[in-house]
Order: sequence, then C-alpha cells, then structure tokens
Amino acid sequence: MLISEIFYSIQGEGSLTGVPSVFVRTSGCNLRCRWCDTPYASWQPEGTERTVAEIVEEVQSHPASHVVLTGGEPMVAKGIHELAAALKTAGKHITIETAGTIAPEGIACDLASISPKLRDSTPDHRMINPGWVEKHERLRLQPDVLREWLTAYPFQLKFVVADAGQAGEIDALLEAIGLAVAPANVHLMPEGTTEEALHSRQEMLVDLCKQRGFRYCDRLHIKLFGNSRGT
Ligand code: SF4
Repeated sequence: MLISEIFYSIQGEGSLTGVPSVFVRTSGCNLRCRWCDTPYASWQPEGTERTVAEIVEEVQSHPASHVVLTGGEPMVAKGIHELAAALKTAGKHITIETAGTIAPEGIACDLASISPKLRDSTPDHRMINPGWVEKHERLRLQPDVLREWLTAYPFQLKFVVADAGQAGEIDALLEAIGLAVAPANVHLMPEGTTEEALHSRQEMLVDLCKQRGFRYCDRLHIKLFGNSRGT
C-alpha cells in the first residue's frame, strides 16, 4: 500500500492526547478539504509502496503499544483491513483517524477517531476541477456510514471549527446520525496550523464547549513541533 510516512511521536489530538504512538500515514484521500494540513497525502499523494509485513516490522521497531492509522484517508488504502488485523495480532491498540465517509466493514479498531467535514472544507472551483468539488460535497457527510462506525467501535467525533456559526451544522449532523451521542464524545478542535491561528480561536471554542458540553480538543503536536512532517 502507498505509505506517506511512518513515525513515532505522541498523539496530539483527542482523548489519547499525550500517548506515545506510532503513526502510519497512508497516502491518498477521497476528499479535497480546502484547509487540508497533509496535502502530500491527499491533494498530491506522495509515498512509497510498502507491504503489510514491512509496515508491521517498522511499527514494532518502536517501543509503543499504540498505533494510529491516519492519512490522507486510511480507509481508501488497499490492504488497510489486513494491516489493521496484523497490528491487532501483534497486540497493538489501534486508533483509526478517518473522515467517516467509508464503511468500516469489520476493520480491527480500538478507537474510531472520526472527523466529519463541515461545509467550510469544500474547495472552490479556482482551487481544483469542478469534478472534485462535486465529489467532495457528495461524500463529505454520510450519516448512514457514520452510524455504522459509531455503533461498532468506541469513538470520538472531532470537528475542525473556525467560527461559532458552525455549531448549527454539528447539531444537524448529530440529529441526522440519530444516535444518543454523549457530548463528551464530541471534540471541537480549532482550525489552524500555527499557534497564533489556534490561539485566535481558543476563546470562541471554549465558550462553545461550555454551552454544549462538548470537549475542547487541543492540537498539542502543533504547539510542540509546529506544522511539520514526522511529528
Ligand atoms: S479528509 Fe483529511 S486528508 Fe483528506 S483532504 Fe480532508 S483533511 Fe486532507
């Protein structure tokens, strides 16, 4: 499968923030988010073809019990089910970071970290051809697929938020999913790839979390390492 990078770091987002983890970043994505912070794994997918055995061997060279399958969109990677199964057999805790647009189909997973994309993710026609704009809009929110993930695995729903007006979109999506989602499983994360950008949205997000009972989600890796590869 096409792998963009494998690295050992600490988890910077969500309920496992701070946990040392090996990140396996697959290359390729079925969306084209306007503000994507890993364009080398989505807009211009780069990487090296690796076998499942090679990936597992590299993961096991690090002293971590936690593995994060991320992207790009890991669920579009050929062989992702085999990789997850092999990591499970090796005794790893597996987090899958996905946009939740592709059904899990029984994939081995201990924490589904799902980041549905809100309206402001859609690129405009000046950025990419109209076919991709239409595809992104059609795929980005699929309540039926999200329901499958949420009923099959422990989960966190992570939303990238730039302004308070997006709370209505989140409410509408939760209603469309139709499950009783505990507010503490909904994480709001500031949009931005610099400390300044994150800081500028902090207060607005804290207020939103206090109003709704949602969880504030930091981006610790950006604070620690900046927006750089391999972190
Ligand atoms: S789903 Fe993730 S990897 Fe794909 S374009 Fe959006 S932000 Fe980038």
